[in-house]
Amino acid sequence: MYASTHFATGAAIGKMVGSNWLAFLLGILSHIILDIIPHHDYRGRRGIFLDTLVTGAMVLWLLPYPSYILWGAIGGALPDLEVVISYLFFKKKGPRFFPTHSGMLPHRYWNLPYGFLVQAGVMLTAIIFLLAKVA
Ligand SMILES: [Zn+2]
Repeated sequence: MYASTHFATGAAIGKMVGSNWLAFLLGILSHIILDIIPHHDYRGRRGIFLDTLVTGAMVLWLLPYPSYILWGAIGGALPDLEVVISYLFFKKKGPRFFPTHSGMLPHRYWNLPYGFLVQAGVMLTAIIFLLAKVA
């Protein structure tokens, strides 16, 4: 999935658990689950650039929130750093170690528009949860 989708989901998990380390670890775990759900992925530098802008805007948005929200978000998006490095420095053929990137676990693809819509639904759910006041 897009790094911004992983980031938003990890942030929502951070809000749910309220602990930096648990948020970070569950954020990484959520990356595996989201990568297994069929989805669209960008195929070039323009997609990476747009996704980086969206993720950067979300970092700025989340900075005033408690730290466990940002730790969850970082854990959620961090595994995609190896994908970005692979695209930018190895013409997509760099080494990949994360289970859904290396082929150890399935990384399912879904064409547009459904592969985008499934991510929009995940991200919208995460953002609604982040904005909601939890009693
Ligand atoms: Zn990934």
